[in-house]
Amino acid sequence: MANNDKAASWQHIFNEIKEKITDEEILKWIKDLKTVSIEANTITLEAPNKYIKMWVEDHYVDYLKEILKNAFHIIDANIKITLKGNTETEKDKSLNSSIEEKEDKQSYSNDYYSVPLNKQYTFETFVAGKSNRFAYAACMNAAKGFERLNNPIYIHGDVGLGKTHLMHAVGNYIRVNFPKKNVLCVTGELYLREFLNSLKTNRLHEFNNKYEATDVLLFDDVQFISRGEATMEEFFFLFSKLYSNDKQIILTSNSLPDDIIDLDRRLSSRFQSGLIVEIGTPSVDEKIAIIENYLKINKYYIKDEVIKFVAENIKSDSTRDLLGVINTIVVKGQLYNVEVTVDYIQSELKNFFLQRDRILSPNEIIQIVCDYYNIKLVDMQSKSRAVNIVIPRNMSIYLIYKNTPSSLASIGAIFKRDHSTIKNSINKIEREKAANNDYTVNTLKELSNRMKVFQK
Ligand code: ADP
Ligand code: MG
Repeated sequence: MANNDKAASWQHIFNEIKEKITDEEILKWIKDLKTVSIEANTITLEAPNKYIKMWVEDHYVDYLKEILKNAFHIIDANIKITLKGNTETEKDKSLNSSIEEKEDKQSYSNDYYSVPLNKQYTFETFVAGKSNRFAYAACMNAAKGFERLNNPIYIHGDVGLGKTHLMHAVGNYIRVNFPKKNVLCVTGELYLREFLNSLKTNRLHEFNNKYEATDVLLFDDVQFISRGEATMEEFFFLFSKLYSNDKQIILTSNSLPDDIIDLDRRLSSRFQSGLIVEIGTPSVDEKIAIIENYLKINKYYIKDEVIKFVAENIKSDSTRDLLGVINTIVVKGQLYNVEVTVDYIQSELKNFFLQRDRILSPNEIIQIVCDYYNIKLVDMQSKSRAVNIVIPRNMSIYLIYKNTPSSLASIGAIFKRDHSTIKNSINKIEREKAANNDYTVNTLKELSNRMKVFQK
């Protein structure tokens, strides 16, 4: 790929990202990345320094993958971030390392390690429903400062169900309504890394000061700290200190405290001392509400029947996946300038949905029976009482009756017969089946198999 193409591709991706991210804080991480190569589904980007590299790896790789999937149909993209200067000369290297050292200090005091709150994750953009009612109420109370007695709040649930969204909503609410309060948001992974780094660089004191000065600690994906003994020890002290000073702590995790492997027992019991709330999987109605809310926020439009189909048939229960599919639908519609219908997404995006058997139409069933007996519909519509016509006619009538929502009258109309004749045909087959008539049983089996093949 020519260099210009590379630049163009990244620019294209970057434009997509800019659409989604309004926060300048976040943009600063992304805008300095450059494309090194794009091969098959692997994109290699270059970061100007190690902080940006680490930060992007931690926070944006999944996001970039989603954009690549949705906007460019690159499924399972592999994103590698390399560091600028891998091809540098010795002189450049010493220059760079002194720059990096300087950055090291600056970044540290600039809180490079805390997570910027996603401005779009607010209570207003969150749809409260049965699956997340308690978590929502607890977070709302905490944001307003009413949850002093329930500390910490521990939110658990599967990935993609809204834990991070709710936690950031608390942070955003407090920053607007109680701007003097110091809100700090971190992930388990980042805390672990920062702690180890501060040990290495003799900055433990600074590290502790930063965390102890917080009024509200938002700790996302706390399960990650169980990877480090010393980290858990440190966190235990921090937790106890904040707790006894009445500072609000909110934790999220993918499981209950006792189910986090290798989690220190003291921490586990602390986590259980406040309020534990679960976010469950959303019902079909909640999914519809979440989709509608998302479309409204983004000023997108999708037909109601498509929304309903997606909510009812999507394979994944994760809200993140649900919104991913909605994005794909919107992007496809715009890209190919087509009107997105249920039929369209059923054929274009079928991997995302449960495969339910399609209902065949009466005409399709007739076609299958006619092929099997080598006759035509007009033969079956005729007055003929010849066995080689009567049997296929009865079979067709029976199969249509059993496999489609057609009424006796409408089946009658197809075969030019009244509804009592249709009823007789159905009864006849039912009787033969009940009597285990070999011919009838085997033929029905064969025809049903052919119908299944036809449905795919
Ligand atoms: P988790 O942290 O549980 O893995 P996230 O908070 O990252 O999940 O949520 C995944 C995506 O789904 C985000 O884009 C979030 O805004 C969205 N989302 C989840 N639940 C809801 C909800 N109830 N209302 C609106 N958006 C939601
Ligand atoms: Mg999360």
